[in-house]
Amino acid sequence: MTSLSLIDVHKAYGSTPVLEGVSLEMQPKEFVAFLGPSGSGKSTLLRIIAGLESPDRGEVWLDGARIDGIAAGDRGVALVFQQYALYPHMTVRDNMAFGLRNAKVPADEIDARIAQAAKTLEIEELLERKPSQLSGGQRQRVAIGRAIVKVPKLFLLDEPLSNLDAALRNRTRVELAQLRQRVEAAVIMVTHDQAEAMTLADRIVVMSDRKIQQVGSPMEIYDRPANRFVARFVGSPAMTMLPVTLTDSSDGLAHVVLDNGTHIPTGVAASVGKKGDSFDLGLRPENVSIVAAGAGTFDGKAMIVERLGDRTIVYAQLADKTEITALDKGDSNVRMGDKVGLSIDGRAAHLFGADGTGHHTVRAA
Ligand code: ADP
Repeated sequence: MTSLSLIDVHKAYGSTPVLEGVSLEMQPKEFVAFLGPSGSGKSTLLRIIAGLESPDRGEVWLDGARIDGIAAGDRGVALVFQQYALYPHMTVRDNMAFGLRNAKVPADEIDARIAQAAKTLEIEELLERKPSQLSGGQRQRVAIGRAIVKVPKLFLLDEPLSNLDAALRNRTRVELAQLRQRVEAAVIMVTHDQAEAMTLADRIVVMSDRKIQQVGSPMEIYDRPANRFVARFVGSPAMTMLPVTLTDSSDGLAHVVLDNGTHIPTGVAASVGKKGDSFDLGLRPENVSIVAAGAGTFDGKAMIVERLGDRTIVYAQLADKTEITALDKGDSNVRMGDKVGLSIDGRAAHLFGADGTGHHTVRAA
């Protein structure tokens, strides 16, 4: 059984459309991340699933039942906000029990569920404290605990880690991944942080411009971005785009020519277009390596050298001011201002057509 279906969901606030025709099928127990820039409609979609907003058009189904007309409390979903939204005057235990008491769950059942959730989240020692006596990470765990005790079919997490500092965010991210193994429910997480989406989700739903741009596993999204937006949004530093023209091919694969006349064979099928067509050649930093000046595809000037310990990112500029991001080894000897050779691995590159569609290397059979 499919756990969640969205069918052609539309939403506008006044005359401003926010979601235009969003459809999605989630698998049972799947962890899906809605990833996109601020304002792309992620939270609105989450709130429609939760029942805090109604779609103008479209349907929401959960476990075989249509839920878009059902009250939020009766949907079997639990929403965890980025602000923990705990009741300050109540203990952790009462915060977790509150919704269950309202739902007339028997007291011994409430105790059992809280004990189980507190064990899972390792917050047993905190049950009698008030929220003000907790750290940010502990509060976030309590907020998740309050959702767990409802035994929802679906967890909805809205930027659950964004209020935490960097160290705590990394730790809570690992905890979320571990928790996920223990909780028998599907999860949707809204985030603008691609690292969060890449590390936690089974599938990522990339959103922008009121629509889903691509749905895929983290590596599908990274390796085979559906369009120019996804290619630029996912991956850090962002993919370099170089304008190229398609030229003759002898091996069934597309060959392109850069503005400076350099000929580059790609791994994309030649059927992508015809001679003379314009494309952007998309290169991840790992597809551009640093070599001696004069020995690469072209020479550039190292504008910024970012040393990350295990690797070095070189932001280079060509004579015509085109910017290219390259990857070099950790103990790179490139310094800012150096003239460097840039060697392109065209066989790994992507091509983006005039309509933005992404074309990728022919898959090995
Ligand atoms: P995201 O979660 O991707 O940042 P949102 O779903 O919060 O995006 O918002 C999408 C768009 O809808 C934004 O342009 C936002 O300003 C607008 N919006 C969100 N909620 C409301 C509201 N209650 N009234 C009017 N406009 C809203």
